[in-house]
Amino acid sequence: MYDQIIIRYGEIALKGKNQKEFVDLLRNRVKQKVSHFTGVEINMTFDRMYIKLNGNDHEEVIPKLQEVFGIHSMSLALKTEHDIEAMKDGALRAVKDAGGDAPRTFKVTSKRPYKNFPISSQELNQIIGAHILKNTENITVDVHNPDTEVRVEVKRNGTFISCNHFEGAGGLPISRNNRVMLMLSGGIDSPVAGYLTMKRGVKIEMVHFHSPPFTSERSRQKVEDLAKILTKFGGDLLLHVVHFTEVQKAIQSNIPSNYSMTIMRRMMMRITERLAEKNEALGIATGESLGQVASQTLHSMNTINEVTNYPIIRPLIAMDKVEIMKIAHKIGTYDVSIRPYEDCCTVFLPDAPKTRPKRKNAQKFEQSLDIESLIEEAISKTETVTLREKELINKGFEDLF
Ligand code: ATP
Ligand code: MG
Repeated sequence: MYDQIIIRYGEIALKGKNQKEFVDLLRNRVKQKVSHFTGVEINMTFDRMYIKLNGNDHEEVIPKLQEVFGIHSMSLALKTEHDIEAMKDGALRAVKDAGGDAPRTFKVTSKRPYKNFPISSQELNQIIGAHILKNTENITVDVHNPDTEVRVEVKRNGTFISCNHFEGAGGLPISRNNRVMLMLSGGIDSPVAGYLTMKRGVKIEMVHFHSPPFTSERSRQKVEDLAKILTKFGGDLLLHVVHFTEVQKAIQSNIPSNYSMTIMRRMMMRITERLAEKNEALGIATGESLGQVASQTLHSMNTINEVTNYPIIRPLIAMDKVEIMKIAHKIGTYDVSIRPYEDCCTVFLPDAPKTRPKRKNAQKFEQSLDIESLIEEAISKTETVTLREKELINKGFEDLF
């Protein structure tokens, strides 16, 4: 019955002068998302986008659109002429097919931006509400907390009636001009940090530190699979796999073990900053959450952060593990993250890392390392993989599991 999906922009609508740029980004992304459904059409006005389904199943299209940042909410809608009988009939059909459990209460909310239509929104609410009451059983009006809201929008290009509403991913559409390097481990947190970073309109490039033969090919594969899942939200993405073994060995043999974790993180930061510079990214994102583990105390962050003045984006900083896990489930990374393979930090993790490392001590211990050549060597051995969303859609993300 429904032939349209109405997309509402939310925050972009507030962007004033830059609104056009945001809307263009959003349109391009929506276009990519619906490109493998044949016949779908996209139309837009300044504050809405309309997806004409042309026979495609909305149950397949909506979940794809829910992966697009910048969409605040969506409604399934049917379009009628500017004709009160057609509107009444459309609204009744919409309520009868509201989806989920049959609604017991409803309200009609009309808007009439197209003033040439002679009936006011107030009157429309009454006329349409009365029509629904007369032609249904066991359903009453509740204007405060209805089970279902019938929205009637009289626009210049037709009247749109909707009853099924869906949340969008929110945030802002991703722009290639805002780029940060996401430090991606195989854990639960950093993919979630990547998702939330992208949600604010930022394109990520991922950096993973890999230490063969201490970390296995399968652990690298796990990270690649996580990166692939993130393409659902970010489109095509780059993953830089840094060969970190020499750095780890140098730390093992030269740094007191209670500082090895701190120095390792400082090296990761330095290398990530160098990659950011090389790839014209403006910041670094991590999955750190304050106080979660030894490397994430405020003392540790202070000492680790000393080596870079790039902005560090930490979307999880104030979240509890339970909240992070909830998002990991929602975005589909959790099951891959809990695969048991080792990561380079756990392999080399000392028994008792310092929870209060000092900048002064870190600097002193680092004098025994040739930092610049370690960075250069690691960078020269970095492999970059391109993950293409389209190939993954064609193959089916399900292959990952
Ligand atoms: P995660 O669940 O993301 O692994 P974590 O709780 O295990 O996080 P740490 O191991 O202390 O925390 O790592 C903190 C952050 O440092 C990670 O979220 C990630 O951004 C970065 N990081 C850790 N290990 C690596 C790695 N091997 N490659 C790239 N980044 C890493
Ligand atoms: Mg980890």
